[in-house]
Amino acid sequence: MLKAMNRTKSDSLDKYLQQSIPCLDKGFVRLVDYMGSDSSITQAARVSYGAGTKTLNDDTALIRYLLRHKHTTPFEMCEIKLHIKAPIFVARQWLRHRTANVNEYSARYSIMEHDYYLPKTEQVCYQSKSNKQGRSEVISEPLNAEIRGKIQDITEKSFEIYDGFISEDVNLAKEIARGVLPVNVYTQFYWKIDLHNLLHFLKLRIDPHAQYEIRIYAEAILSLVKEWVPITYQAFVDYALNAETLSAEEVALMKKIIKGESYNLEDFKISKRELANLKQVFDLEDI
Ligand SMILES: Cc1cc2nc3c(=O)[nH]c(=O)nc-3n(C[C@H](O)[C@H](O)[C@H](O)COP(=O)(O)OP(=O)(O)OC[C@H]3O[C@@H](n4cnc5c(N)ncnc54)[C@H](O)[C@@H]3O)c2cc1C
Repeated sequence: MLKAMNRTKSDSLDKYLQQSIPCLDKGFVRLVDYMGSDSSITQAARVSYGAGTKTLNDDTALIRYLLRHKHTTPFEMCEIKLHIKAPIFVARQWLRHRTANVNEYSARYSIMEHDYYLPKTEQVCYQSKSNKQGRSEVISEPLNAEIRGKIQDITEKSFEIYDGFISEDVNLAKEIARGVLPVNVYTQFYWKIDLHNLLHFLKLRIDPHAQYEIRIYAEAILSLVKEWVPITYQAFVDYALNAETLSAEEVALMKKIIKGESYNLEDFKISKRELANLKQVFDLEDI
């Protein structure tokens, strides 16, 4: 029979309750509530492993073992509820993560606030040539200011039309009027997710391949995870965030390199992109 336990909490995360972490120019991540702590994870794991955990009785070792070996269900014992304010295009990427509970601001029911994202000068960049989903160097002045000015003008104009549509004179339904607003307008939502799925979200959205704008939010949430479950946070950094996955072919090549054996790169099924990544990860110059 399990002994009843007091509700676990994190004193360092409690300080952030109802606090907003600013993101981008007008957005935020606000901590609404949370459940569980590092000890909720070990407690749940010990229920399933029972006597088998005797050699892993240290919480840090147990959490690191669970995370490294993808024994994920104990991490689902912790949950976090956040209030997010983000541009619609960020929210669209965000809400692709299906394993969360969401409640979004209704633009059918409520009037959209005049808040929109205007990228800073250093985010107004050329299209990347190597990554079709990315950006490259910053566009210099005066073109940079001109682009920012046009983003501002078109968004202000859209709001002007929107306001006219929903005014008493026209009284257009809000669900139709919102169609003139661009995707840089801010929306808000409540987002509740368990720690296992949150770490999956963070792994994907902190990655340099993710868009800068959503990365800012992911980094803000990661700072909360660090306060909330510090042991899990460190295991996540070591085994997921800063870890690398190697294919069987890459392992075979690395074995040859480490042993100083001769090899022919063409004998390995490693793509150009994988090879470039391998070189970068292991600081390999001439292979
Ligand atoms: C850098 C980047 C670029 C992207 N580009 C594009 C793009 O161009 N176009 C596009 O459409 N999307 C794109 N995405 C979105 C991406 O394809 C995923 O939809 C998104 O990252 C959510 O990931 P997920 O499904 O693993 O997460 P979640 O929906 O949170 O799911 C978590 C895990 O639960 C399991 N799961 C959830 N639902 C199901 C299900 N129905 N069936 C089986 N297993 C399930 C899976 O194991 C999944 O990994 C991109 C994402 C990133 C990070």
